[in-house]
Amino acid sequence: MNKDNTNSHDDLLHDQWDREHLWHPYTSTVNPLPTYKVDRADGVYITLSDGTRLIDGMSSWWCVIHGYNNPTINNAVETQLHKMSHVMFGGLTHEPAIELGKRLLAMAPPSMNNIFYADSGSVAVEVAMKMAIQAAISKSGSHKKSNFVTIRSGYHGDTWNAMSVCDPVTGMHGAFGPALPVRFFVPQPKSRFDGEWNPEDIKPLEECIEKHHDEIAGLILEPIVQGAGGMWFYHPQYLREARRICNKYGIYLIFDEIATGFWRTGRPFAWEHAGVEPDIMCIGKGLTAGYLTSSAVLTTREVADTISNGEAGVMMHGPTFMGNPLACAIGIASIDLLNSRDMKSVIDHISEVMERELAPAAKFENVADVRVLGAIGVVEMREPVNVGEFQKECVARGIWVRPFGKNVYIMPPYIVNDEQLTTLCRQMLQIISPA
Ligand code: PMP
Repeated sequence: MNKDNTNSHDDLLHDQWDREHLWHPYTSTVNPLPTYKVDRADGVYITLSDGTRLIDGMSSWWCVIHGYNNPTINNAVETQLHKMSHVMFGGLTHEPAIELGKRLLAMAPPSMNNIFYADSGSVAVEVAMKMAIQAAISKSGSHKKSNFVTIRSGYHGDTWNAMSVCDPVTGMHGAFGPALPVRFFVPQPKSRFDGEWNPEDIKPLEECIEKHHDEIAGLILEPIVQGAGGMWFYHPQYLREARRICNKYGIYLIFDEIATGFWRTGRPFAWEHAGVEPDIMCIGKGLTAGYLTSSAVLTTREVADTISNGEAGVMMHGPTFMGNPLACAIGIASIDLLNSRDMKSVIDHISEVMERELAPAAKFENVADVRVLGAIGVVEMREPVNVGEFQKECVARGIWVRPFGKNVYIMPPYIVNDEQLTTLCRQMLQIISPA
């Protein structure tokens, strides 16, 4: 790692009380990774407590799509706040939930008809899996069809069932052992998004489903882009084949579009790269532009009615904050912002700049691969990256990037300009440069 041009922000930026009492994600209390104290965030900049400004390359884990402190969304929050911040969704409804729903169905695959609002990405995955099981039981008249198949290197969240379909090695299985339900796993598709389709890729899935279809309610996967499980972009043909196999064996196809949704891959949702519609689809993150936690599960009339005509007669889920009006008002403002811009050109341009700026890394001896899709840029290293060290370098250079495993990746807010994006990429490459 290049150590030039750095100075230590350690003493200024880390809070001892926080270190002793607050648990940060995936962090040890014995030897916690440094956490930098943030004062405010505006546009693409995060401002630390000593005034250091960082260009944000993470969109706060994919969600801050319009940048921080966006005046239009702030306005929507304030207007809604003075009407009602929350009412229960059981027995009550409201304009923000209805308006957001209309906008979502206008963007979603045409076969989507029913929307279930939930509280976070992981909960959306739980709901989607429950939907598939309830529908499968209702359709088959047997409780046997209650397991799931998925592909390796996936990530679907941190709650129990979501964890059970995360990659067994890079995911959480190791830590929880036999406590988790055991799912069927098939290898990750190896055909690259922009490469040749290799028909061998689909065989393990076909064989697994052929053998176990009477136990399987659904196939769950992240379409096109596998996020936190490996930052891998795979061939659209895989989804077409998966759809064919699911149809053949009566298995529900669940797309987890929590990370890929709202234009991140250069399309409103990633299914469009393959033209393949799921039976059930999870969305979150960009749904509320990083303002509040919220998610939704969309499904077809067929799935919804099959559940409703089944044993329970209802969808068995109902979180307290379901359809939260503030979150819905934010979602509406965010989608209206997306619809007011030519998002295809915006994302294509971000893509071009990232492709140009990240390309030199392909020649670094410590880099295994460089790939860009939509507003996602990935530099895959040959060895795992030391996150603490890497972030120290980022802060010293005025950027914010948080690698995991071997992947150093960026997915900036869509409002990033060329100068900011170029700086972000060049500084990142200086940090990883072996020279
Ligand atoms: N699915 C995918 C594809 C994700 O990327 C994530 C979050 N990184 C989740 C589910 C879980 O979402 P949340 O963190 O909001 O629970």
